[in-house]
Amino acid sequence: MSIKINQAEFVISNTDVRLCPQPNMPEYAFIGRSNVGKSSLINMLTNNKKLAKISSKPGKTRLINHFLIDKSWYLVDLPGYGYAKVNHNARDQFQKFISRYMTTRENLTNVFVLVDSRHEPQGIDLDFMVWLGEHGIPFSIVFTKLDKLRKTQSERFITNYKREMLKMWEEMPPYFITSSVDGTGKEEIIQYIREINDTVDYSDY
Ligand code: GDP
Repeated sequence: MSIKINQAEFVISNTDVRLCPQPNMPEYAFIGRSNVGKSSLINMLTNNKKLAKISSKPGKTRLINHFLIDKSWYLVDLPGYGYAKVNHNARDQFQKFISRYMTTRENLTNVFVLVDSRHEPQGIDLDFMVWLGEHGIPFSIVFTKLDKLRKTQSERFITNYKREMLKMWEEMPPYFITSSVDGTGKEEIIQYIREINDTVDYSDY
């Protein structure tokens, strides 16, 4: 049997964590730099070509977008960070908004940090993961656009990224190699979420 998402429904978009849906199901947030391939990944995971709007103007959508998946968990599409054209003030606001969501959302189960495999490790991603670690927020890395690399290049990329991570971390967090073009990594991510969901005690909510 193939591992897939059967139903994905848009629920609500918010700028305020207090207005998010009742935290009564496990929640998985997806975040990364603008253009990392987040919308494409969400659409791939949910088998829906239009669920997350691809290439909405970078830095413009400052919304927490909730999708209900198979009536059993929330997928949250967060705005892309690190868009060069936003000014410092906008960036501070953005950081506050994200940190408020991350630190107060009680059903937040895991954050998927998306990393573009075409670039060297970026400070903004590494810093963000350190911040998550400092706040005790579980996360995993999703490497995107692996179809753009040949096998040897992708192996080199992962080795290099691990080396960079191990400068700050005792071990590499869980990670996924993905391509929204050919579907690589899709089943692994869905399976990973299901396994975590199986361990979640719903009476906690
Ligand atoms: P977002 O800004 O993070 O939501 O990124 P998008 O999903 O809009 O993707 C940004 C650009 O990267 C678009 O031109 C996509 O077609 C392209 N892209 C996204 N994912 C992949 C992928 O897995 N492989 C390739 N080759 N291109 C991708």
